[in-house]
Amino acid sequence: MQVGQDAKAAPTEAPLIDPFGRHVSYLRVSVTDRCDLRCVYCMAENMSFLPKKEVLSLEELDRLCSAFVRRGVKRLRLTGGEPLVRKNIISFIRAMGRHLDSGALQELTLTTNGTQLHRFAHELYDCGVRRINVSLDTLDAEKFHEVTRWGNLQKVLDGIKVAKDAGLKIKINCVALKGFNDDELLDLVAWSHGDGHDITFIETMPMGEIDGDRNEQFLSLAQVRERIASRYSLSASSHVTGGPARYERIAETGGRVGFITPMSHNFCESCNRVRVTCTGQLYLCLGQDDRADLRAALRASEADDVLEAAIEAAVARKPMGHDFVIERGVNTPGSVSRHMSVTGG
Ligand code: SAM
Ligand code: SF4
Repeated sequence: MQVGQDAKAAPTEAPLIDPFGRHVSYLRVSVTDRCDLRCVYCMAENMSFLPKKEVLSLEELDRLCSAFVRRGVKRLRLTGGEPLVRKNIISFIRAMGRHLDSGALQELTLTTNGTQLHRFAHELYDCGVRRINVSLDTLDAEKFHEVTRWGNLQKVLDGIKVAKDAGLKIKINCVALKGFNDDELLDLVAWSHGDGHDITFIETMPMGEIDGDRNEQFLSLAQVRERIASRYSLSASSHVTGGPARYERIAETGGRVGFITPMSHNFCESCNRVRVTCTGQLYLCLGQDDRADLRAALRASEADDVLEAAIEAAVARKPMGHDFVIERGVNTPGSVSRHMSVTGG
């Protein structure tokens, strides 16, 4: 089957409801484990990437995402690795645009490191993408090079400009890192809001072996918020994006600051998300190891009934929540062994 064709209609179109009554309406798909950067909190310097045959083809990704859309997923976020380094990814994104056109999907978006935006931003807009998250942890070129191990800040800033000119709404994602960007938090807020972008701060999560000690890097968002509140007036915002961030509005800039606090604040009660890796492993929770092999289901039959049955069975065991813990020198229990680039955040 080609990308963009729909397989035989689903046996049932009932929405996916988990055992706690939560409606699964948000799917994050990691379309590749590869990346053109090696952020120190995300990947080790020497990563071995998956052989091609293990990774879902674009046709398989289309069948998989379309099955979720038939079962009531309204928001689809592509991530990675770096989604824009996957070969022919635009053809897949364009094919997903048909679910926007039909009204089945409300939003098609992606999380990117921004290095390829100068090439693809206009096409993304053309495919129906309206909003993207761009990860940026520092505005200092040397520090950017250091945290990404070889990235070029100017290329990302140029990409952001092209994306903005193309009409894409941009949200900056910034991982708060002790001893790295804690002195830059206010500058990052001022720059983002000055350029018209909301910004969300993320706490580091204990995912995958990296080269340093995570405890050394952990900066609580309570401290981040305190720092921001020392300069700006924050007030609660009712803004919701379908994601896990809690937003506040800054009176002086008019922009929003989001906080994603998986380590210190439990947002599991309202979790409407599931994640699929580039090998088709469905994770019901970012912080748990339980998964379902949707690649086996996809490859078992050309029709989608096996796939849909596998999705349904998996959602029926979505756990209540995660139990991450970061302790000095200890990554388990309370950590997961896969890298963030596997499930894509
Ligand atoms: N390459 C794309 C990017 O960087 O935006 C998409 C994939 S990346 C894994 C998605 C997000 O996860 C990025 O914002 C990144 O900063 C964040 N991230 C990666 N490892 C993390 C970790 N251990 N804890 C918290 N956030 C992490
Ligand atoms: Fe690549 Fe994104 Fe991970 Fe950085 S955070 S190494 S850009 S996948």
